[in-house]
Amino acid sequence: DLDMTSPAPSDTPESTGHKPAAAIAREVARRRTFGIISHPDAGKTTLTEKLLLFSGAIQLAGTVKARKSGRHATSDWMEIEKQRGISVASSVMQFEHRDHVINLLDTPGHQDFSEDTYRVLTAVDSALMVIDAAKGVEAQTIKLLAVCRMRDTPIVTFMNKLDRECRDPLELLDELESVLKIECAPVTWPIGMGKNFRGVYHLLRDEIMLFKAGDEKAEQAFEVVKGIDNPRLSAMFPLEIEQLKMEVELVHGASHRFDLERFLAGIQTPVFFGSAINNFGVREILSALVDWAPAPRARDATVRVVAPAEQPFSGFVFKIQANMDPAHRDRIAFLRVCSGRFERGMKVKHLRLGREIKVSSVVTFMASSREQVEEAFAGDIIGLPNHGNMQIGDSFSEGEMLQFTGIPYFAPDFFRSVRIRNPLKIKQLHKGLQQLGEEGAVQVFKPVQGGELVLGAVGVLQFEVVASRLLNEYGVDAVFEGTSISSARWVSGDDKRVLADFEAALGHNVAYDAAGNLAYLATSNVNLRLTEERWPKLVFHATREHA
Ligand code: GDP
Repeated sequence: DLDMTSPAPSDTPESTGHKPAAAIAREVARRRTFGIISHPDAGKTTLTEKLLLFSGAIQLAGTVKARKSGRHATSDWMEIEKQRGISVASSVMQFEHRDHVINLLDTPGHQDFSEDTYRVLTAVDSALMVIDAAKGVEAQTIKLLAVCRMRDTPIVTFMNKLDRECRDPLELLDELESVLKIECAPVTWPIGMGKNFRGVYHLLRDEIMLFKAGDEKAEQAFEVVKGIDNPRLSAMFPLEIEQLKMEVELVHGASHRFDLERFLAGIQTPVFFGSAINNFGVREILSALVDWAPAPRARDATVRVVAPAEQPFSGFVFKIQANMDPAHRDRIAFLRVCSGRFERGMKVKHLRLGREIKVSSVVTFMASSREQVEEAFAGDIIGLPNHGNMQIGDSFSEGEMLQFTGIPYFAPDFFRSVRIRNPLKIKQLHKGLQQLGEEGAVQVFKPVQGGELVLGAVGVLQFEVVASRLLNEYGVDAVFEGTSISSARWVSGDDKRVLADFEAALGHNVAYDAAGNLAYLATSNVNLRLTEERWPKLVFHATREHA
């Protein structure tokens, strides 16, 4: 175990009070920060739990499961939110494995689906994609993967539930390649499936790991047999081993060999087969993350690229979550550290506000304990208390003006107009929506010709969350209603006159969002296309970055 508290003899602390550069570089090198993505029910929660179990972070499986029992219902979401300690702690988990510090970020799926989900993926260096091998590529997988592809995030793939009847593995790879447009490099290959699931063959090591139904509560070792031609295997399961040999030949001929460079470039994904519930194949996933997934990388900021091992601290907020105590309006801002060393109690500069803040009550996310961690390095996630002055995309540093880029807002897919039952509360409504809009909980559009505010979201649950927060935090009983709007685009153009003409001509469908950006609210895809054609000097954007 590296002891980072006392510098190695070669390091000389500098007068800045920073930790020696070499020590920071070592901390960065041993970090892995990844998001776990899947369609609901593919086994993400089960796999998360097993990853924690393997790392020794939890003694018993069940910790992660406990929190998700109510994820389908809004009321339960609120219940969970009330126990904020749980929800905050479980969306980011930090644990150690083989002397590496692993930060695992959950990306909620299904009805939890919201802009948060997308933005979490801007804070990771790699992603683990879980696929139900009986179902193959599903809708949510496609959406999430598209977001990963925007940043060329390296992706490790886990084909889960081989203990059930699944689809043909070659067909699964084929589907991954054609639907997700990513090269597949199988690393392990299944031997049989369902009742006849015998194990996996490790294509790179020429080893067979024998399947045994796993124990819920403990990590275990699976027996390994060296060599596909080992006579023991044909004695054990003659039919399956013949099938395996045929398939392996096919695989070697027809599929891609694992190539680290291509993986790191986000072009190729190594594919593992297994069964999360049986702990089978989980260790291989951890090894892939430790051995192959990238350590925190340099990040773009407007003025320059920031290297992770630079001494001054920097980071950005990618998610804001309502905080524990409903009596206070506090929220937690999730900050990804991009460089340097964060230390509890240190002063950091909030760059948008140009103000220094002292961060004394920081939340960290050790899966094994609730104790506060005193320091954090690039790749780590820390939770800052936010009294309403932090927004998604805000950057923090020790003083240098660095605005990290690439934190997207996505054009919403769902729209509602807002009305209130008590007109006297109009001011509170506007204040509430302004703040929730700034926070990124929902997008708020104000039509230029007046009229009702339009809310836009990427997932419908966002509306329910906003309605509930308006009521609880701002005392506003708002009614959300359907609108004729079906999509939105941010609009930009060089010619101010053209923009003004556009606003005047299409006033009913032109609006400003909470950050003051011009947007076009289209009533249909045809309407959007026609408008784009009629205004060739304007650019219509489906995403925008934090201003
Ligand atoms: P999530 O929605 O992606 O988080 O999925 P869960 O982890 O909750 O899993 C969904 C269901 O699949 C649960 O009933 C799990 O017990 C089950 N499951 C997860 N992994 C496996 C597996 O390897 N084999 C089988 N047969 N079932 C699994």
